Amino acid sequence: MKLQINPGDQKTFGPCECCGNLTRRIWGYVYELETPLATYFVEWTPGHDEQDAYWDLIIGKWGEDTGPEDRVAVALAYRVLESGPSFMVIDAATRRLATGALASRALQREEVIGTELAQTVFGIVDEVFLHDPRLNTLPGTPGYLAPAPVDY
Ligand SMILES: [Zn+2]
Repeated sequence: MKLQINPGDQKTFGPCECCGNLTRRIWGYVYELETPLATYFVEWTPGHDEQDAYWDLIIGKWGEDTGPEDRVAVALAYRVLESGPSFMVIDAATRRLATGALASRALQREEVIGTELAQTVFGIVDEVFLHDPRLNTLPGTPGYLAPAPVDY
């Protein structure tokens, strides 16, 4: 699979009730041989103790004469374990983005794991993980810049 990404816009919202940090959401587009394949959203709150991030993917056909029925939503939870960064497919219906106007179906974990679609999903997150420079405040990513220690 030969994929390319095109980073789109981003947004911050919050502040988070627990820590006062702003939650960050970035999004962008994935192409396979110049054909649009997916839109991705990554959402995390820099500075959280448990450094979870949610990855929402909308995968399918895009462009004129397509609609939500041509696309599915897949969601992953990202976390840095002792063994390194890890992605777990979760039930996409639990994610607000997935049940919006972009895709007609939010896939459950069992509908993704072990299927051909799973290869596409992990191909997409690999590509974004390695090549979207905006992930540099997300621990575990190749470009991660740890915040400077606070001097009390
Ligand atoms: Zn917080």
